[in-house]
Formats: sequence, C-alpha cells, structure tokens
Amino acid sequence: MNLPHVILQPKRAQPFFARHPWVFPGAVQAVEGDPVDGAEVDLVSSAGNFVARGFFNSKSKIRVRLYSWDTGRPLDESFFRDRIEAAQRLRHTLFGIDAQQPAYRLIASEADGISGLTVDRYDRWLVMQPTSLAIGIRREMLADILMTTTGVDGIYLRTERGVGKLEGLELQDGPLRGALPDGPLLIREDRVQYQVDLRQGQKTGFFLDQRSNRAVAARYLPGRDVLDCFSYSGGFALHAAMAGAKSIECVDVSEPALALAKQNAELNALTNIEFVKADVFDHMAQLVTAKRQFGAVVLDPPKFARTRGAIPDALRGYRTLLGYALRLLGPDGILVMCCCSGLITAAEIEQVMAQVAIDVRRDLQILERRGQDADHPISVTCPESSYLKCFICRVL
Ligand code: SAH
Repeated sequence: MNLPHVILQPKRAQPFFARHPWVFPGAVQAVEGDPVDGAEVDLVSSAGNFVARGFFNSKSKIRVRLYSWDTGRPLDESFFRDRIEAAQRLRHTLFGIDAQQPAYRLIASEADGISGLTVDRYDRWLVMQPTSLAIGIRREMLADILMTTTGVDGIYLRTERGVGKLEGLELQDGPLRGALPDGPLLIREDRVQYQVDLRQGQKTGFFLDQRSNRAVAARYLPGRDVLDCFSYSGGFALHAAMAGAKSIECVDVSEPALALAKQNAELNALTNIEFVKADVFDHMAQLVTAKRQFGAVVLDPPKFARTRGAIPDALRGYRTLLGYALRLLGPDGILVMCCCSGLITAAEIEQVMAQVAIDVRRDLQILERRGQDADHPISVTCPESSYLKCFICRVL
C-alpha cells in the first residue's frame, strides 16, 4: 500500500517502536503525500523504516494516532472488526455472554487498541463516544460492526465537551442506530439497580470504572454514618445502603445527578439516604464547623488535573478534601479516596495523605490500593490508560 508518510525526527522513533500510540508534533520532521485530516498514514523513521500505521490529524496535538505495527495490515473494516471482537471476548469472559441488564465498558480506547473510541454497553444499548476525528469520521462503519458483533437494539452517539475543539470534530448527540426508548434504561450492579440516562447523563451515563470499588467499599460500611461526596447518581451510596450502612448523606452540586440518585434510592427501596445539593468544599467546611462526625467518608471528585500545569492546584484540592474528611471521621473511621486524574500518580496521592495525617495528628492506614475495573484494561505500552486510583483507608 502506498500511503502518505509521516516522517519522524532523527532519534525520535523509540517510543513508537515501543508501541506508544500518540505521536505529538514535536516528534515529526515532515509529512509527505498530503494526507487529509483523518487519513490513514504510515509512520516512518528518519532513516525511512516503517514504524507503524495510524490516522493523521493536522488539527490535533496528537498528530498521528497509531493502531497497527504490522506493515501488511490496512486500517479497514476487517481490522476494526478484529479489534472489536477481541474487546467483546474480554467482556464475555468478565461478565458472561448472557449477563442480565449488563453495564460495562465494551471498548476502552487505547486499552483496546482503538485510540479515540469509547463504547459502553447499557442493557440492550451501546453509547459510542468518539474522541478523535478519524474515529468520528468512521462512525458508520464502526456502528455496523458493533451492531453485528453485539446484537444490541441500538447505538446512541455522545460527544465529550472539548473534543470538538481539540480534534476539529463536530458531531451531534443522538441515536446512530435504533430508536432509544423513552426514559432511562435499567442496569444492574450486584444487588443494586440503577437508572441510566443516556441522553443527559454525565460522560456516557454512568461511572462503570468504579464498579468493584463500590462493592468492596460497601463491605466496610455496615452500621456506619456515611458521607458520600461527589455522589452523582448514588453509586457508592446505594451500595453502602444495601450493605447496611446506618445513614448516608449524598452531596453533589448537580441537581439532575441528585434527582437520578433519589430515583435510584426509591427504585431499590432504600430510605436512609439524604441528598444535599452543594459544593462539596463548602459543605464539608460547614460540617467541620458544626463538629459533625461520620463513620465513613467517600471522596470521588471529578478529574482535577487535565494538563500537567494543573497538577499543583489539583494536589491542593485533594489535600483540602482530605483535611476535611479526616476532621469529620471519628476513631476507626473509613475513608474511601478516589482520584481519576491520570496525570496524578498513586504515590502523589499517598504523599498528600501523609501530609494531611501529619497536619491533623492522626494515624491513617491504607487498607486497600485499588484501581479501575477489568473492563477498563491498562495497556502496558500506554501508561495513560491507567488512571483511576481508589484507596480504602482507616483513620485512628
Ligand atoms: N461517585 C460517583 C461518580 C462521581 S462523578 C459514582 O460512583 O457514580 C463526580 C461528581 O462530582 C459529578 O456528579 C459532579 O456533578 C460532581 N461535582 C463536581 N464538582 C463538584 C463540587 N465542587 N461539589 C459537588 N459536586 C461536584
């Protein structure tokens, strides 16, 4: 195949021979053959050797996204069908072929070898979220493959805010295949049922990456008064209530998220959950002033650091939250601390935890160091695909 070439600067090919999928402009010496944005290109070393094959985008900071390290393989329908089927096989291993009301990530972008494509399954529906121009352009082909490999009723297209600008991709949210039923879909996570709103929900509708963290955290919570900060649709709270927590206070700034959480509590006949619409930072400060005490605090904030420059501010944010949490926790209190900023490492969070423990003169033990669920795999050649940290701790 005679594809346009993206030629690397001398001595810059190593990361791409090592299968990292993102080529930034600084590594590129020249582009030959005038590829249009989204076109298939070959990445070659400055000596002219083939490195990998990918999609080009002059508008993105990721100038080339790489998919194949095999010279003979075009990035066509058969290629993506193989990748999608491989992803589906993993989910069948994890959840079974006939899972009831399944909810899982079917395609996790780089971690499933399809940079720029996120697909979640909710019962009989898929939510497709393209995060690159090339994948957005190929959405119809990908939708056809997804329909035949999964046999679902339909596919809903969602766009992430900001991607349009980063990638030069303009898409409208809406059904791509099938007609979405009115109202939310019902999914099951262990014993808890959730309503998921594909049209309005945050991200693709639900935070699937925390599935087993919610279940494991809940084991520590029977009999406790729990403060669930950044509660969204009630993920941790409902599991805690189902496991026998004494009381739960959910705090979130988003009214629609709290409304969904309330509906979910009713759906599961759970009555000991309270819902507070507030900024978590303000609310926790007030609870500290009021000298309230809890048996457990869950902190699951949104991504604080989107760029390297934002890391110091993000760490300060985590430090503030942890400071409040440790002041609100009584002896033997359980802290569930999550961080979904991929740019911040587990070691950095542990450092912040140590600083805060010293500040408040308490002993803090890490009981479990957890990460993202297996349907959000980690590609060993793309460390960025490992992003979620969840620490379960006890404070003395
Ligand atoms: N724990 C949830 C997911 C949390 S997502 C689950 O398991 O499903 C993060 C949530 O934080 C979102 O619902 C968002 O509305 C909320 N949020 C973001 N900033 C906030 C703030 N400053 N105060 C309160 N809530 C906030």
